[in-house]
Parts: sequence; structure tokens; C-alpha cells
Amino acid sequence: MDNIVKIDNVSFEYIQDGLESKALDNISLNIKRGEFVVIIGHNGSGKSTLSKNLNAIFKPTKGNIYIKGINTKDDSKVWDIRQSAGMVFQNPDNQIVATVVEEDVAFGPENLGLDPGEIKKRVEESLKFVGMYELKNKPPHLLSGGQKQRVAIAGIIAMKPDVLILDEPTAMLDPSGRKEVINTIKKLNKEDNITIIHITHFMEEAVDADRVIVMEKGKIVMQGPPREIFTQVEKLKELGLDVPFMTELAYELKKEGLDIDSDILTVDEMVINLCQ
Ligand code: ADP
Ligand code: MG
Repeated sequence: MDNIVKIDNVSFEYIQDGLESKALDNISLNIKRGEFVVIIGHNGSGKSTLSKNLNAIFKPTKGNIYIKGINTKDDSKVWDIRQSAGMVFQNPDNQIVATVVEEDVAFGPENLGLDPGEIKKRVEESLKFVGMYELKNKPPHLLSGGQKQRVAIAGIIAMKPDVLILDEPTAMLDPSGRKEVINTIKKLNKEDNITIIHITHFMEEAVDADRVIVMEKGKIVMQGPPREIFTQVEKLKELGLDVPFMTELAYELKKEGLDIDSDILTVDEMVINLCQ
């Protein structure tokens, strides 16, 4: 499998009032096409800064990032990068530009200069994919948070990206909105083989990832399959992070002397473990 995202020794510094502050500190990371990666980390650990570097909103101060082999520092390729690596942000209200759902989804493909027939086809397909086709004529402000985020995702997938970067897309949603968005992301990964880079502080959302990456102070401090990461409960606690609720419960029960596996991630696994 090819590395659709290559991050080579990347550092990034913000300059504020003449002072430099390092937000990314020598990060290297390769992500394969079709991979589902979840990034977790305490507030201020550099997750958003990294995501903006992936999408050429920011350019590394040191090192290089390649999306499909294109260096994000190549100014002539900014639109190729933004088309290949689409980004969804936390606040659904800041991402919707039009007054009707289908016009909003058409915005990206229009900017790619596609012909009207192709735009119409992509808008239709994308809205159907995220389950928002029936609401295509609605004004976005009447939608729920979860619906708005699905419209934002439709707007990105209408540009046929290879990678979807989501920076805490569920942080402002209620539980049912969160579920809608997570199911949409999973479906994109499974059915369309779109590479997913999902930043979240909900540990349950990381359980099904191929790989979990933990950031701290601008560095990658842990990475591996979810089970390998989340069973290191003490280490995660030291980093100020939670583990999935069932993992925490198993950890506490084991501490109380119950004979239970310590690598439980889900309710189903807990049930099997307790009933066997
Ligand atoms: P996270 O998304 O993990 O919460 P961020 O990438 O937003 O972390 O922030 C990483 C570090 O960079 C923090 O120390 C934060 O204060 C700093 N930072 C973020 N945005 C800016 C900015 N626009 N100007 C200066 N410093 C910033
Ligand atoms: Mg952030």
C-alpha cells in the first residue's frame, strides 16, 4: 500500500508578538491509503496545528509534508492538495456558505471548475451518501448539528478527495448527531476506501480505528492499534487522557480483584468476558 500522507521531520512554530512558540516538534508519520487513523491528545498538544499543515493552510517551519507525493510547500499545487485532502472542522456553522443545502455542497465542485452536469451528479451522489438527499432544498440553519456536519462532509466528498481530515467534528454535537457523523465517516472509509484522519477527544470514537496516534506537546508519544494503546491505562492517565469507558471499567474491576481481561474496549467484549 502506498503512503498517501508522508510527514517528514515536521516542526511548526507560531509567531505571535514577535515570539516563536513551537506547536509541532519534529513529527514523522506515514499514513497508508485506506487507513483509518485517530489522533488523540490533550488540549494544546498540536492536533489542530498538524491537521492544518496537512491541508496546506499552514506550511511546516521545518521538514516536509507530502499528500499523494505533492509537497504542501509547492504553492502552485495548493488546490490539488486541498482537493486531495479535504478538511472538516469542529463548528458546523462556520463551514456552511450557502443558503440551501444542495448549493452548499456544489460550492467545492464549482470551484474545481467542473461542468454543470458533473456538478449536479456529484452533489446528488454526495448528498445520498451522507443521507441528506431528501433535505437538499432546506436552508442549512434549520438542520441539526449532526445534519450540518453531514452536509459539510458531502461538500468535501463531492470533490472526490483521497483523504478526509476531521478536526473534532463531533465536539459540538449531541450523542445522536455524533453517531450520525461517525457512521458516515466509517462508511466513507469502508465503501469508498477514503483515508480518514480523525481528531477526537471521545475515546469511544477511536476504538474501531486501524491506528491511534497520541500527541503531547507537539510530539507523537504513542501510536498503535487501539487495543495496544488503550490498555496502557496508567500511561494515558499520565498524559491527561481517558480510555474508553469499558476499558476503564475493566481496569477498575481488575484492580478490585475480579478475574477479567484487561484489554476490553467495547460493551460486547465486556459482556462476553463477564458471562464466560
Ligand atoms: P490542539 O488542537 O491539540 O488543542 P493546537 O494545535 O490548537 O492544539 O495548539 C498547539 C499549540 O499551539 C498550543 O500551545 C496553542 O496554544 C498554540 N497555538 C495554536 N494556535 C495558535 C495561534 N494561532 N497562534 C499562536 N499559538 C497558537
Ligand atoms: Mg484542536
